[in-house]
Amino acid sequence: MHSGILVLSGPSGAGKSTIINAAADAIGEFYFSVSTTTREPREGEVNGVDYFFVSKEEFEEGIARGDFLEYATVHGNYYGTSLLPVKKALSEGKLVIFDIDVQGHKLVREAMGDIVVSAFITPPSLKVLKERLTSRGSDRMDIIQKRLENAKEEIKEISSYDFVIINDNLKEAKEAFIAIANAARYKMGKAESQKFIKEWLES
Ligand code: ADP
Ligand code: 5GP
Repeated sequence: MHSGILVLSGPSGAGKSTIINAAADAIGEFYFSVSTTTREPREGEVNGVDYFFVSKEEFEEGIARGDFLEYATVHGNYYGTSLLPVKKALSEGKLVIFDIDVQGHKLVREAMGDIVVSAFITPPSLKVLKERLTSRGSDRMDIIQKRLENAKEEIKEISSYDFVIINDNLKEAKEAFIAIANAARYKMGKAESQKFIKEWLES
């Protein structure tokens, strides 16, 4: 299987985790990039599975060591992607999936360039987003409000993504995600295509 990079963004509560979980059996071997964050764990979240939960000081030590492929401040907390496991997964031919915000998407594009495929996932409207965040029941009302304000800004970046998934009907959103994840493995960046052409001509 080809490796690949798939960046997913979208407001908190868009359904990114739900869609990835629903599609997990249909997209071949993949590595879900577990981010590091300084935010408090939600009920049911597991350290090392959902996130690596660290203190602000630990995060800043990581920045100083150059551990992060990218990092950003989202809703007042640090979130970042560690570089090493991503490199390892790519060398093992896996599809690497990132769930990162719009700032992270820009930074990953700068760092990894033309091998990146990206998709923005959103509920059909701000109203539905609010309903989903409320019924998920994992955040306080003031935190939900902060997330909704952030979502109003994030949605403006939609045109910088290769694909958009409107998560209205979960089954349809899952099918769209599977198609995009599979396509991400067929994207060939400039460096890889130059190598391929050379080998193709010589063989
Ligand atoms: P994210 O990972 O983007 O923050 P979640 O996957 O946690 O979002 O989804 C937020 C909430 O919306 C969850 O309670 C989830 O069950 C619900 N949800 C996700 N997709 C749909 C959908 N298509 N229809 C209705 N509810 C959904
Ligand atoms: P949540 O707190 O709901 O888990 O995530 C809040 C936001 O942070 C989401 O938009 C999510 O995509 C983003 N995010 C999660 N991990 C990272 C990361 O490693 N880097 C960046 N830039 N954003 C992240």
